[in-house]
Amino acid sequence: MNHETTRRELLGHAVRGAGLLGLGGVAVYLTAKAGDEGVWVLDISKCVNSRLGATGIEACELCATSCVRPLSAVRAINDFEKCGRCYICPAYFDVMSEVDENGLPSAKLCPRDAIKREPIGWVDPDDPANNFYEYTIDEALCNGCGICVLACKDPSGLGSILLEVRYDLCLDCNRCSNAAACPDDAIDRKPLSRAGAPQRHPAS
Ligand code: SF4
Ligand code: SF4
Ligand code: SF4
Repeated sequence: MNHETTRRELLGHAVRGAGLLGLGGVAVYLTAKAGDEGVWVLDISKCVNSRLGATGIEACELCATSCVRPLSAVRAINDFEKCGRCYICPAYFDVMSEVDENGLPSAKLCPRDAIKREPIGWVDPDDPANNFYEYTIDEALCNGCGICVLACKDPSGLGSILLEVRYDLCLDCNRCSNAAACPDDAIDRKPLSRAGAPQRHPAS
């Protein structure tokens, strides 16, 4: 074995060692995250914006304003399995605004214009109301204010838009300021295994 080979072997051992240490660090982190401490989870059945029976109220925007992140780690998602793909979605349109020349409300509801509306398939020009529309939330714009969530709630909507703590964006603070601010005790720590499917959308 010559001198050059020995140096290469040593280098190889060092790189492999560093890689293993790195993998070990990630494994320790994931184990800690999934352990007893758990992750912060928003229980939509408790959040006033989703809770059935809570009517005639303003949206609770505390998740948008209390999070330590400049753009809250709580974001809205549209559960497409529940969404009716309505022609006039009360979460997309401000249904109290004036009707425009197309017979649609002239204003949108989301203050950050974070909801996109796309027709599904071919649109009948003589009767666009006969078509279905897909409503997608741009998570890079959404701040989790909950206004659309309240508007989509039964009976005006089908309750398909929900708020969730995005695990990939959450800083996992020891004391979540959203949980502290929530009047409904809707945010709590849960073991990752009981927290439901994390990150139902790609990171923004
Ligand atoms: S939660 Fe607020 S910012 Fe996000 S999509 Fe709904 S209305 Fe827009
Ligand atoms: S734990 Fe921190 S980053 Fe995560 S939602 Fe709560 S306040 Fe925001
Ligand atoms: S603070 Fe509580 S009630 Fe208000 S939006 Fe957040 S989870 Fe819902």
